[in-house]
Amino acid sequence: MNRVLAPTASAPLIRREVAGLPGYDPGADPDEVAVLSGSRRVIKLSNSEIPYGVSPAVAEAVRLGIADGFARYPDPTGKRLTDAIGKSLDVPADRIVLGNGSENILELLCQAVLDPGDLVITQAPGFSLHEIFPRVMGARVEKVPVTAEFGFDAAAWRDALAAGPKLVFLANPCNPTGAMLGAGELDRVVAGTPESALLVLDEAYGEFARPDPEYPDGLEALRTLDRPWIVLRTFSKAYGLAGLRIGYGIASDAALVRALDRVRTPYNVNRPAQDAAVAALGDHAHLADTVRRTGLEIARVTDRLRAAGLRVVPSSTNFLFIDTGHPSDRVAWELHRAGIIVKAWREPGYENHIRASLSTPEDNDVFVRCLTEICAKDRS
Ligand SMILES: *Cc1c(COP(=O)(O)O)cnc(C)c1O
Repeated sequence: MNRVLAPTASAPLIRREVAGLPGYDPGADPDEVAVLSGSRRVIKLSNSEIPYGVSPAVAEAVRLGIADGFARYPDPTGKRLTDAIGKSLDVPADRIVLGNGSENILELLCQAVLDPGDLVITQAPGFSLHEIFPRVMGARVEKVPVTAEFGFDAAAWRDALAAGPKLVFLANPCNPTGAMLGAGELDRVVAGTPESALLVLDEAYGEFARPDPEYPDGLEALRTLDRPWIVLRTFSKAYGLAGLRIGYGIASDAALVRALDRVRTPYNVNRPAQDAAVAALGDHAHLADTVRRTGLEIARVTDRLRAAGLRVVPSSTNFLFIDTGHPSDRVAWELHRAGIIVKAWREPGYENHIRASLSTPEDNDVFVRCLTEICAKDRS
């Protein structure tokens, strides 16, 4: 959605970098899709949300918070949560930063680090905020393409990193492809990133990939390195707390966290979110169950789509990146008419792809049936 700001009286006030930005695409509005499809129950597969609900411990923590009322501000340091995260990861709590979603931390990093004209490197296809937030600061963004097989292009990364970036955004597993980098590939990015640059490893989907012995835990890979880095994680995806907006980062040093503290709004993480995250972090069984069920569905749906002749990237996440063989906007429109919301991909070279996060087995079956019908119809 490349909406250009309308020429109104406020237009001259808007910074050039902001006026020229692409907007973030949150996907179609479920209410509009309900009207379009005439079905009251819309199947929303556009935002990587999980269908399994939250841990009972989370529900209880939030309920206790409601009883307490909301007149008081939250703890601006989020101490109870940073202590719990620090303890679980064996990292000092002063190296943990909290955000209103990990997106908020991406934004704070750009504000704290980037000057106009600085170079930022990230991957394409990629997560739009890895480009949008740097551009707000007037930075230049260079996107390194994946290989034709959606893999890591070592030569392209080496060349891009040699150009001297100030900031590197790498998502592992990647969004939108769902593919993961192995330990050797991550090591190459780390080795190629100048020591003067900040390496940001975005592990929003790391919980889904961790059972795979080939998946390199970013914190373990970076922990002992004497260079600036930060690993970002979130409670939005595998923990199922997207609506509460809370994520965190583990930084190479406490000074980086203090710099982010200076630019963030002091109460950026609300109280129910902090309470819920502490509870979610403690319920290992619920997380393991979500990850296990998600993995089974990813494997099952991948097989079914491939059996129908569609090209699907092997996914280490809770979503699939699918080559529909047809313009993604048209396929998405047909799915919307059937009451199913997916994200039509629009990055150059991927205009035939959709990204669909999986839901319950029943809803996934409806999705597979509709998608294969739409693609078969178009083919004939
Ligand atoms: C979802 C996502 C995030 C962060 O989401 P929050 O809800 O803000 O925590 C960060 N990076 C990537 C690649 C994501 O897909």
